[in-house]
Order: sequence, then C-alpha cells, then structure tokens
Amino acid sequence: MKRPSFLAASAIALSLAAPAAAAPANADSAVRRIVASQPYKTAAAALDSGHDQWVGDIIAITQIPAPPFKEEVRAKAFADMLRKRGLAPAIDEAGNVIALRKGAEAGPAVVVSAHLDTVFPEGTDVTVKREGTKLMAPGVGDDSAGLATLLALIDAMNAGKVQTKSDVLFVGTVGEEGRGDLRGVRQLFTKGAYKGKIRAFFSLDGGGLDGMTTGATGSKRYRVTFKGPGGHSYGAFGIVNPMVALGTTVTDLYKINVPADPKTTYSASVVGGGTSVNAIPAEVWLDVDMRSESAGELASLEKQFLAIVPNAVEAENGARSTKPGKVSAELEPIGDRPAGHTDPNADIVRFAEAAYRAEGLTVKQGTSSTDSNIPMSLGIPAITMSRIADGGRAHAPDEWIDVSKAPNVKLKRILLATILATAGTR
Ligand SMILES: [Zn+2]
Repeated sequence: MKRPSFLAASAIALSLAAPAAAAPANADSAVRRIVASQPYKTAAAALDSGHDQWVGDIIAITQIPAPPFKEEVRAKAFADMLRKRGLAPAIDEAGNVIALRKGAEAGPAVVVSAHLDTVFPEGTDVTVKREGTKLMAPGVGDDSAGLATLLALIDAMNAGKVQTKSDVLFVGTVGEEGRGDLRGVRQLFTKGAYKGKIRAFFSLDGGGLDGMTTGATGSKRYRVTFKGPGGHSYGAFGIVNPMVALGTTVTDLYKINVPADPKTTYSASVVGGGTSVNAIPAEVWLDVDMRSESAGELASLEKQFLAIVPNAVEAENGARSTKPGKVSAELEPIGDRPAGHTDPNADIVRFAEAAYRAEGLTVKQGTSSTDSNIPMSLGIPAITMSRIADGGRAHAPDEWIDVSKAPNVKLKRILLATILATAGTR
C-alpha cells in the first residue's frame, strides 16, 4: 500500500460513520426546504382554516357504521368526499376506495391510507357525543379520524397547488381489524392494479405526538376443532375424549419458550364445545393467537404449535378406548398477518423524524400490527403515523379523541411535510 496507514484507517472510519450521520442532515434539509416553500405555507394555512371542516368530517364518517366485512356504505360516502375534492375515486375488488392524485413524473406511487372498517358490530350506536374539544363514539378515532385527516391533507395540497413528483394514491382500506386480516391492503399490494407500482406507504392510524410504527408485529391464528365419538359420561366412561386432547394442546403450548426480544407471544384465547355435563363431548374447539416481531420466530413458534396438536390427539387415542371411534383434530387458519420492519435509516423514516424535529418534537419508533404489515413484509418502505394528537379507549364503546385545534393542526403539518418529502415536490 502506498498510502500512509493512518489515512486508510481514517477513511474507513469516515465511511462507516457517514451513512448514519449524513442521512438525517439530508432529511432535515429536504424537510426545511419544503416547509419554507410557498405551496407548503399555503397548504399549512389551509390545515389551520380547515379545522372545523376536519372535525365535521370526523363526525360524519364516524356516524356511518362500518362493521367488519360491511364497509360498503362508508366506502361509498368516503368516495363521494374524495370526488368533492376533485379526485376520481374507484372501488376495487376488495372494497378499498382508491383515488389517484397525479404527480409530475412517471413511476411508482406513494400511498397515503387510512382504514374504513371498525371493530364494532352492526347495530352499535355510533352517534358522536361532544364535550368541549372531546368527541366520544365507538370508532371516532380508529380510524374515522385517520380518514378525515387524509381528506384534510388533500384539501391542503389542493389549496397550496402542491405538485408532487410521484403520484400520490389516497386509499381507504377495508379489513384492517380482527378477522378482516388486512385483506384490503393485501389486495392493494398483491393483486390489484397497483401491485408492483407502489414505492412507499403511509397508514394514518394510532394517536399521539410522540410515536410512529416502523415495525410490524406478525400474527398467526388458528381455530382447532377436536372431534371424537362422544357418549354417556357414565355409561361410556373409558372412551377417548376430545376435551383431553384440547387440554393437552393448551398445556403443551404453554411449555414453549419464546424470546422476550424479539417479542414473541402466544395465547389460548377462546374455547367452546360440548353439549351437556353428563356427556363426553363429540366436539370441542380452541382459538389460538401467536405473535412475533420476527418472521423467523413466528414461523418457529407456529411449527412447534402445529406439532403439538397431532401429538395431543395421538396421546389421547393411546390413553383410552377408541372402539367407538378415534379423536381427530382439524386446523383452520383464522388469521395471518406477516411480520416485518422498515429500515430505521430508510428515507421515509428519516423524513418523518425530520418533520417532527421541524415542529420542535422528537418521535419514537415502535412496533404494532397495522396496514403497514403487508408492505413491510414485502420490503416496501412503510410507516404508520398518528391520525390524531390525543385520544384513547380505541376498540371500546367509550372511545374518545380530543380535537383541540393547535396540536392537531401541528400533527397534520408533520404528516404533510413527511408525505411531500417522500413523494418529492417541484
Ligand atoms: Zn386502526
């Protein structure tokens, strides 16, 4: 080597330090440039003057019921709200509402989404009650506020005549909650017209001015149905009992060691079956939930669980008489949400952090289960950002949000700056 060794060593040290040190500075300057631009300033002023419209939209959306698998009425109303803003929404095969806001350049789109569905069944009273700046109703935050915030961002971009480089695709998704199993966002990324044509994804979900989701908790859920011959509890005593196989399954599941980091969990959650206290049941069932921040740990846990069930069945068939019939088990997958994460150094994360910093705030990265699970699992940069500055009791009948103007306008400025930095502006 001709170079003095100290130079080579410092060059290595520099190149190691450079990516982590350089990225935030670039993100900060990109966000500062956007925030200082006239279109952004006009858009931010529209977020301020549009506050009452935003509150009105939250109330209107909340009061259109959207039970699981029954989002059509709200979807149509949401499509109308997009149409009023000059977009041409379409409803896809899954029921997602999709509206394109054209960018200046050809290429993949940036998605801004919120979910249409709630966890509340048909017949739930969704009338919004108001006390000062507090709004209360089932679903008022999750995710009616997300949908209204998405609309406010469109209003602001229109007011500022903001021209993005990338297309921005505004999406109201179906099936985010529970048994919906992310079917809307799954359709968007794996089957629909935009499959392979999305380069970044935002979900507006969750609340607060201090956190965002950059990691996806994956989950696998099963219903296991154990069947046997059944019989009289006294007269047929000695024959196999599917309840024992179920019990052994639960006991053996709880012998599995899972890591605390990456957090990995399981739960035997719901059971049912049997007919009478004096009958050996012919059928019993069990719902199991397994979760992990790591796709590998989740797969390993699932594999162990899937081995436990047949072993438990075999043990019961070996322990008692199978003369009138054997015990068997059927496994039905009832939930599959992939784990994943967005690189903490990805542009989308750096831009969000810079947008928070531009408002004098710091934001923590966290992990949860949201629409972002699907793009994260596919390696597409995705984050879930807050829909509301403050709220609580999501998924409960006494859900509430605080629609105070200042913190919520601030949050929307942060969202707007992050989205514009990600999509690029002219
Ligand atoms: Zn939600």
